[in-house]
Amino acid sequence: MIVMGIESSCDETGVGVVDWDGESATLLADEVASSVDEHARYGGVVPEVASRAHLQAMVPTMTRAREAAGIDRPDAIAVTIGPGLAGALLVGVAAAKAYALAWDVPLYAVNHLGGHVAVDTLEHGPMPPSVALLVSGGHTHLLGIEQLSQPIIEMGTTVDDAAGEAFDKVARLLDLGYPGGPALDAAARDGDPSAIAFPRGMTGPRDAPFDFSFSGVKTAVARFVEGEVRAGREVSVPDVAASFQEAVADVLTAKAIRACQAREVTTLVLGGGATANSRIRSLAQERTAREGIDLRIPRPRLCTDNGVMVATLGAHVIGGGAPASPLTVATDPGMSVQISKL
Ligand code: ATP
Ligand code: MG
Ligand code: FE
Repeated sequence: MIVMGIESSCDETGVGVVDWDGESATLLADEVASSVDEHARYGGVVPEVASRAHLQAMVPTMTRAREAAGIDRPDAIAVTIGPGLAGALLVGVAAAKAYALAWDVPLYAVNHLGGHVAVDTLEHGPMPPSVALLVSGGHTHLLGIEQLSQPIIEMGTTVDDAAGEAFDKVARLLDLGYPGGPALDAAARDGDPSAIAFPRGMTGPRDAPFDFSFSGVKTAVARFVEGEVRAGREVSVPDVAASFQEAVADVLTAKAIRACQAREVTTLVLGGGATANSRIRSLAQERTAREGIDLRIPRPRLCTDNGVMVATLGAHVIGGGAPASPLTVATDPGMSVQISKL
């Protein structure tokens, strides 16, 4: 069965195609058009600009995906209905409905965050009961996964900023440009991760074991830079970047391992744009290896937003026997992570 996925929750217009054999999905096409350059001069995603870019990119991206997959039409369409930007989501959902109606194929509404987790199965096969560490631009969650077609169990989340957001804000503070996460990752490569001891938020004995806080480390970086400038010292951007990245990666991976132990599972799945980060990946590898936990991380290209993740979750939802969504299905910009499907 050929499943197409349509993604438009933020600044990437994604159309992906997978072949679902009843147990696993195989990638046939992965086309993404990003409006990231249009947002760069504003230093963040401008919702109106994103919506218009989706409108312009949707049909060409769809055409490219069908050509790449060598298909005329899919057997089913999955679409992100939330969480995300209201106007941006509307474009993808309207397109999905129109194509579903025109091609007379069923429509499946899916959750973007569930897609960030499900996409891993493309590379690593069926997912056993796992813990997922989801780290993206707008979200940071520790999740219990029984089955991808079942609702996700939320173990913990950030009490303030998302980790990706902290990367973007610190990158801005260090004048590294936009988008900040990849730039900070690159700058950190030449730095010393132990140069500055930045705080590890929410790791005290009385803190919730699976919750996160990243606003403290962000403020600590700002204070440190101010202090250096005031003292007339030159700020070592690579050292600050590497030390900040280390603090974030340390907390994320330590809590993820503890979550695996609490749920008595031996598989940790990483997903979301910020898990493209080189230090989060390498520290997760080191620590899971030490604890005898299998680590599954999609390649960086599949960690950031794309249509394939939507198609893959859609395939699992179909495989789980869920009914198709009505063509009247609405977008849900504030959709909870626990609802991986409708
Ligand atoms: P959400 O999935 O929460 O709705 P989103 O879809 O906007 O948010 P993603 O595309 O999943 O987010 O991820 C984008 C985030 O990932 C940005 O904050 C970006 O800075 C971060 N990111 C991407 N690559 C890296 C990297 N190498 N290091 C750190 N952060 C990164
Ligand atoms: Mg993006
Ligand atoms: Fe995302």
